[in-house]
Amino acid sequence: MSTFPQDWVSFDRQHLWHPYSSMIDPLPVFPVVSASGVRLKLEDGRELIDGMASWWSAIHGYNHPQLNAALHQQIEKMSHVMFGGLTHPAAAELGRRLVELTPDSLQHVFYSDSGSVAVEVAMKMAIQFWYSSGRPEKQRLLTLRNGYHGDTFGAMSVCDPDTGMHQIWSGLLQPQLFADAPQCRFGDDWNPQDITRLRLLVEEQHQVLAAVILEPIVQGAGGMRFYHPQYLREVRALCDQYDLLLIADEIATGFGRSGKLFACEHAGIAPDILCLGKALTGGTMTLAATLATSSVAQGLSQGEPGVFMHGPTFMGNPLACAVATASIDLLLESDWQGRVGQIASGLEAGLAPCRDLPQVADVRVLGAIGVVELKEPVDMAQIQPKFVEQGVWVRPFGKLVYVMPPYVMNEQDLVRLTGAICRVVEQHCA
Ligand code: PMP
Repeated sequence: MSTFPQDWVSFDRQHLWHPYSSMIDPLPVFPVVSASGVRLKLEDGRELIDGMASWWSAIHGYNHPQLNAALHQQIEKMSHVMFGGLTHPAAAELGRRLVELTPDSLQHVFYSDSGSVAVEVAMKMAIQFWYSSGRPEKQRLLTLRNGYHGDTFGAMSVCDPDTGMHQIWSGLLQPQLFADAPQCRFGDDWNPQDITRLRLLVEEQHQVLAAVILEPIVQGAGGMRFYHPQYLREVRALCDQYDLLLIADEIATGFGRSGKLFACEHAGIAPDILCLGKALTGGTMTLAATLATSSVAQGLSQGEPGVFMHGPTFMGNPLACAVATASIDLLLESDWQGRVGQIASGLEAGLAPCRDLPQVADVRVLGAIGVVELKEPVDMAQIQPKFVEQGVWVRPFGKLVYVMPPYVMNEQDLVRLTGAICRVVEQHCA
């Protein structure tokens, strides 16, 4: 006999952790029973226009027939087989696309389960590369303040120390080096001073540094900041000059979100190691990939131990790979650049009225990302239901009310989404 309570939402409240939540007095969560296109359907029948694309991932909207078909076809063959000693067409087909889509220098793909793990893998690759090259002292990472790279220990060590609450894990986190966050904004004039601090750190510490890791152009969960492409070009040049690898974390920006297929394209640079996730499967399943140049891949495979020391159980999961391939094909068949451009214009126009509100510090848009930065942090318990009452799904954090809608959102829905943001910010934010 099932002991599952009738009221599954109250079971959830008592027993299930949600992201960044408390078990003493958890904030309410809204029960979703289905999702289609850009709409989330709540248990009580209400429909919400989705502004979050499930944290950057559902770029084609929900329940997409082509993605569903890819999942069905693959599940008929096999959902999963181990990747140790075995392989399958789904992994190779996706790998072929990733190698083709990304810069020519990135030729080798490591699949993993989530963005955080893709970052762990990237960091391990960089460190093992130097170990195998006879430079075992090169183990530290240099990164930017206001960065975010995930919640596992290695990834956490390169997240912003303040917003990442490093004090909780003091003694356990690898002490990394942090440069000031770039101040020159995307679209502003370049100020050469912006790179000074990072350059100094590289000059002083390059002997012990394995790599620089950063989110190219868009700093996401650490502040939703858009910075100048010249900053990225300067970092690339410093990495070349001082023998550091460059790890680009494009887990949030990958697959068109910033207006380019990959944000590094804004600067015309290629990293040595690239992390992808989130939109990789169009938001249907969890999958991530870490790509490396032949120099990195061959370098770390030489000498002892001669193999890369990582191998997740669900590596190259066939279902996830098949739907990722379908998602990439769907993206490339579509006029995604036109769609992202239209969303950018719609966000710009729709969020502009917020600029005049006294509680707003800044409004900024890049590609299909819109940000309203407030002067004070939002009260989540109070504000979240207000968005739902307005018929939209927007999940702010701290001082940031931001959206990154599915690329398929039409103009009318975008007007409703941005209008709701303006109303909630005006009426319910201090
Ligand atoms: N890197 C970046 C830039 C991210 O935005 C995120 C997720 N917010 C991650 C890494 C971690 O990905 P995941 O949540 O899939 O572990």
